[in-house]
Amino acid sequence: MSTFDIETPVLIVGGSLVGMSTALLLAHHGVPALMVEHHRGTAIHPRAALINQRTMEIFRTVGVEQIVMQKSGEQFDQDGAVMSVETLAGKEIAYFIPNLNDGVRDVSPTVRVFITQKLLEPLLKMRAQELGAQLQFGAEMISFDQDADGVTALIRDRDSGETSNVRARYMVAADGSHSRIREQLGIRMFGRGVFSNSATIYFRADVNPLLRGRNLSIIMVVNPTLRGFFRIEKPYQSGFLAVNTLGSPDDPDTDVTRDLTEERSRALVHAALGAEDVPVTIEDVMPWQSTADVAERFQDGRVFLAGDAAHVMPPYGGFGGNTGIADAHNLAWKLALVLQGKADPRLLSTYEPERRPVAAFTVEQAYTRYVTRSARYLGTSGLQKAENDLNIELGYCYRSRAVIPENDDDGRGHENPRESKGRPGRRAPHIFLEPGEEKISTLDLFGRNFALLAGPDGRAWCESSSDAAKQLGLTLDIRRMETGTFADAYGITPSGAVFVRPDGFVAWRAKSSEGASSDTLLRVTRAILNL
Ligand SMILES: Cc1cc2nc3c(=O)[nH]c(=O)nc-3n(C[C@H](O)[C@H](O)[C@H](O)COP(=O)(O)OP(=O)(O)OC[C@H]3O[C@@H](n4cnc5c(N)ncnc54)[C@H](O)[C@@H]3O)c2cc1C
Repeated sequence: MSTFDIETPVLIVGGSLVGMSTALLLAHHGVPALMVEHHRGTAIHPRAALINQRTMEIFRTVGVEQIVMQKSGEQFDQDGAVMSVETLAGKEIAYFIPNLNDGVRDVSPTVRVFITQKLLEPLLKMRAQELGAQLQFGAEMISFDQDADGVTALIRDRDSGETSNVRARYMVAADGSHSRIREQLGIRMFGRGVFSNSATIYFRADVNPLLRGRNLSIIMVVNPTLRGFFRIEKPYQSGFLAVNTLGSPDDPDTDVTRDLTEERSRALVHAALGAEDVPVTIEDVMPWQSTADVAERFQDGRVFLAGDAAHVMPPYGGFGGNTGIADAHNLAWKLALVLQGKADPRLLSTYEPERRPVAAFTVEQAYTRYVTRSARYLGTSGLQKAENDLNIELGYCYRSRAVIPENDDDGRGHENPRESKGRPGRRAPHIFLEPGEEKISTLDLFGRNFALLAGPDGRAWCESSSDAAKQLGLTLDIRRMETGTFADAYGITPSGAVFVRPDGFVAWRAKSSEGASSDTLLRVTRAILNL
């Protein structure tokens, strides 16, 4: 008989945006993980809201894209601007992104969306439960230990005080920026450190007249009183003001939270609105630290760090939560295949080399935006050049033992997703299968299994891949693509083929039918599975 109260393939500690997404993605792959979350329910504050195209593509795979899209419209007018002002009532300074989806619609079957965590998390929760995830709220992980075969953790129910021993094969630490799991493992954070004790001030006020019909998603405020940003929800009677620094922009006070009474909070909201006469009710104030750091390691044995536990960045660019969801997406299929015995556990050690460089780059990009848009006093020398948002969101490249690179790989960490053209280590490009008809994207062909997509003359690859899959006991989605633009979009000739991982990243590519045999595919697949 087992000495443990609960046994689970994967224990996820932390059930906020990233922990919940991990539970959902694992459940999608048939792994009924146990998620424990200290809070008694999903987010009570709006928090993150900008959900980028990559996250929406992931949501599309697990069947929540439509509901997220629908609900988001209740909360925000979509396609707003990211811009800056001296005050909401006063002078505009710059429009960084005039319309959230301008110039990006061609690269994806979906779009960037604004929806707060408060509305989003219940949707993820419902779907995760539908797919078999075990979600335990009001439960805290008190301690853990790992050995060669698994992780043992002590969980306490906060209401009853009862404790249980959980035994898991693997553990995901999605326990946030102050991760105690990371601390216990002795994993250090590297980067820019903490540069402000910031605060988010939630308020109610009729700001509709001050918007003057403008559709503004993120309104940065830069004036001699404060630097921060507004986010305002429909019907424009409430929102938040995040404040990063106070006073002189050249020599600011970076401790916003000191003496932040209700009266002082109201004064800051008034200073950002530029309208003293608008009645403002303060609803809540949440302190947080502006930080730009990345963990030195993302894995320790059977424990994986994901989300803010692995990387923390200032919310300039809306990258934080999205990067965490991409971590979960990268890890889920690998855990599933290893747990099913179809891949060698070494596949899991491709998580860190794939995700850490992306996270480190994204953290620096967020820092660049923070400094140039709001905190020039930190100094602009040594800053990374600001990269186009689209390249950060969709153009990151993976290099690891789960990708078979080509000889001419240029080693870039990110690129314009329109240029990736199906090269290994890049997100497989989107094209609609039958332009003008039912909107099925190439991306809809990925998500659960490996996929072999061959060009219109790529019959030889289809036949040999089917043999190889049978030998490995692997489910492989095989398809010969009739769509005329496919071969060009994926950088192959009509007789070539691409091998795409369950996370929609190209693992390997054959530009023509040369070498088409089940032996080739066996070799390729075994290499990717680290067998
Ligand atoms: C003002 C602001 C605006 C932002 N806007 C955006 C945006 O628009 N887009 C975006 O992508 N990102 C945005 N971010 C960043 C985003 O909010 C974070 O990156 C994201 O919420 C991190 O999620 P997480 O699940 O990794 O961590 P957290 O949200 O910190 O969750 C960690 C969870 O772990 C739980 N926990 C910790 N220890 C234990 C334990 N021992 N046992 C059980 N549970 C435990 C905690 O209770 C907590 O719920 C914003 C951040 C701020 C501050």
